[in-house]
Amino acid sequence: MHKKRWIRKLDTLGRVVIPMDIRRELGIVKQDAFSLASTEQGIILHQIDKEKCRLCGSNDSLKPYRDSLVCIPCMHELKSL
Ligand SMILES: [Zn+2]
Repeated sequence: MHKKRWIRKLDTLGRVVIPMDIRRELGIVKQDAFSLASTEQGIILHQIDKEKCRLCGSNDSLKPYRDSLVCIPCMHELKSL
């Protein structure tokens, strides 16, 4: 599944730049969140799902609810139950 391979060096602050081609292909933009895992095969970088409503998947008008995000239309729907 690996299409291309890039080699990058850590900068003086320990950062690695994700190549522009990958960012464009995966829709990665500034402030996106990632988790890092150290495994026997190496480091796995996993893009955390962008913020979206836990119930319908919308990314508009989100409000925190407990440890999730829920959109306002879903909140209204829940209140009417
Ligand atoms: Zn929703």
